[in-house]
Amino acid sequence: MFDILQYLPAKRKQTASGWISFNAPCCTHNGESQDKRQRGGCKVSDDSWSYHCFNCNYTASFLMGRNLSFKAKRLLQWLGVPQDEIERINLESLRHRSIEGIANERIRITQRLMNVQFEERDLPEFAELLLPEKSVWHKDLWSYIEKRCLPEDYPYMFQQHEQVARHGIVVPFTHNNVIVGHTTRYIDGRKPKYIQDAQPGYVFGTDLQKDSWQYAIVVEGVFDALCINGLAVLHNEINQSQSRLIRSLEKDIIVVPDHDEAGLKLIDSALEYGYSVSIPDWPDYIKDVNDAVCRYGRLTTLLSIFENRVSGKIKINMARKRLQKKI
Ligand SMILES: [Zn+2]
Repeated sequence: MFDILQYLPAKRKQTASGWISFNAPCCTHNGESQDKRQRGGCKVSDDSWSYHCFNCNYTASFLMGRNLSFKAKRLLQWLGVPQDEIERINLESLRHRSIEGIANERIRITQRLMNVQFEERDLPEFAELLLPEKSVWHKDLWSYIEKRCLPEDYPYMFQQHEQVARHGIVVPFTHNNVIVGHTTRYIDGRKPKYIQDAQPGYVFGTDLQKDSWQYAIVVEGVFDALCINGLAVLHNEINQSQSRLIRSLEKDIIVVPDHDEAGLKLIDSALEYGYSVSIPDWPDYIKDVNDAVCRYGRLTTLLSIFENRVSGKIKINMARKRLQKKI
């Protein structure tokens, strides 16, 4: 097993939340001065690690069974790991591919063939991981997460700096566990409520899908997707490249529209691509999956989605008409 610990600087400390911190090797390569306050952080598990620099915001991660990413390779170089050692680590990782890893790799290859690729993006400036220690500063963010019934284990972030005027939750967008964008939900009551960095064709939530799952549920919004491990297309329609990406997951697709005008458009997309649609008969005050999860819980919501699933033009159009009448 590739043990990152052996490459980290000897001078390091471990925080209660499991981060190993040490002087970051990245900053001088990114136009910042040398870190002297141990602002590089690495979190290690059995078969993966992730790195985040709280000084220059460089991030990198590694998952056993996968190729080393470009950013992970650079990090290792900066840590002084020789090039041939890096190549050896990469081969070693691929040799440990599990069945799931192989399946994921196949999906990745399919996605590449289908031309689904996203560039690695930086997180917004001064973004830091929202740690579970619910300090005073974090309290309103955590209570927002709780109020919206979002899973607590997603790596939410926040921006804390005098140059950052607004307060909100940053949700990193990942694809194949690489950060490719983000959305920020502000909780200060001012407009706009969201700002978003999403690449064309991006679908949120592909990394939340499990190989053993038969279905993937497609919704419009990030928070709807997060609370049921679904996919979010981030618009009220599904474009061609998003559909290619969704197809490459090789799942049965169920589109769950919001109960509003935008939802009707999402149904039209589902019809266009031949996906199933589910419109559970929620009461009027429940407008989307997130509302339903907060009201009924996740399992009941999922059951109602599966029970109301319809396919084929005629049945979907009937369900669409019922929804149209309600809104
Ligand atoms: Zn750095």
